[in-house]
Amino acid sequence: MLTQTQDPEAKLTAILERCHATVLDASIPDAASLPEGFTGTIGNFPVYFPDEIAHAAGLLPVNILGGGNKLEMKHADARMGSFICSICRSTTELGLNGTLDGMTGFVTSPICDAAKHLAGIWSRNLPDQMSEILYLPQNPNTQGATRYLAAEFQRLRAELAHRVGHPISDEAIRSSIGLYNKKRRLMRDLYQIRCDEPWRLSCSESYMLVRAGTRISCEQHIELLEEALDAIRQRHVVAQDKPRVIFVGGFCEQPPLEMIEAMDDNCFIVDDDLLIGQRWVKEDVPEDAGDPVWALAESYIERSNASPVQHDRRKPKEVYMMDMMRAAKADAAILAAAKFCEPGLDDQLFWSKDLDEAGIQYLVLEFEEKMTSFEQMSMQLETFAESLLFALA
Ligand code: SF4
Repeated sequence: MLTQTQDPEAKLTAILERCHATVLDASIPDAASLPEGFTGTIGNFPVYFPDEIAHAAGLLPVNILGGGNKLEMKHADARMGSFICSICRSTTELGLNGTLDGMTGFVTSPICDAAKHLAGIWSRNLPDQMSEILYLPQNPNTQGATRYLAAEFQRLRAELAHRVGHPISDEAIRSSIGLYNKKRRLMRDLYQIRCDEPWRLSCSESYMLVRAGTRISCEQHIELLEEALDAIRQRHVVAQDKPRVIFVGGFCEQPPLEMIEAMDDNCFIVDDDLLIGQRWVKEDVPEDAGDPVWALAESYIERSNASPVQHDRRKPKEVYMMDMMRAAKADAAILAAAKFCEPGLDDQLFWSKDLDEAGIQYLVLEFEEKMTSFEQMSMQLETFAESLLFALA
């Protein structure tokens, strides 16, 4: 039991405070403070990482999501150009300033040039840590995509087994898949509540509940989500009059929490792509598959969400954002992109063209994780919400 209080509001507040503390602490747990059953940590860069394989190896998967807007940059600027997005720079800073000391390794994938080159920077500057690029297929439509990805996951499995000094059994991976299926089901429940009764759970609250899971064990996250969902369902809340809006652009670098709160102040954010890698697989991964690694690869290819860093013709960029809007019964969209994020800016063009053609209102925002001033953005959001309410009246 995480919290003792019976009052649902107080219980949820206590859980959210715990999530905040977890998220603010970017350091890597030492051997004594690792959750039971883990012998090390594996850092992974967004968007997607097969947590189940690390979990089965006894390595705590930690999603490295940059340094937020409190980190002082001292070392990273000397190692990368000024046109690189903030999450790459601050992740490098965390590595160089010692915050990520003790990690067994760091895995990135070629979602863009900046992310791909992080592995090289890592191996030169932090030679004691394993540094790997996991080559996720950018084009999942070729016949051999699942076979290729399964081989890539097996390569990762072998590398992690080498690091921990013992093989990773199929049975251990199946057991991890079962746990992660449960965690994803609970996250889907959170998003369903936001769609059905958005006054019951804000975007920033749901974000903190999901984000805490990027740093704690799957077992701890399941316990936290179950308790939070119980409190959310019992919460006494009054429905408010706000426009229903989706937010896209938070798939990799994360907007500051203050920006998400400013959106909450003005709109119901009924769906989003924040931390989409945590929710990448949309349905349960088969738990009884003969080859659990194949099951993970097949789920990645066949039953996954869309994002700007993947090019799947079954999820065309012209369609997936509009599908999101329809499913969430949204009135409008907030199209955001992290500064210097090429994949995000590319998709923004497709999204805005579609919305223009459909005559749907949208607001374009640019953000950086290191932003500290939100007054102007708050005013933009207020004006946007007012114009929506006026149009919808
Ligand atoms: S924020 Fe965009 S540019 Fe930066 S690492 Fe992520 S996908 Fe690449």
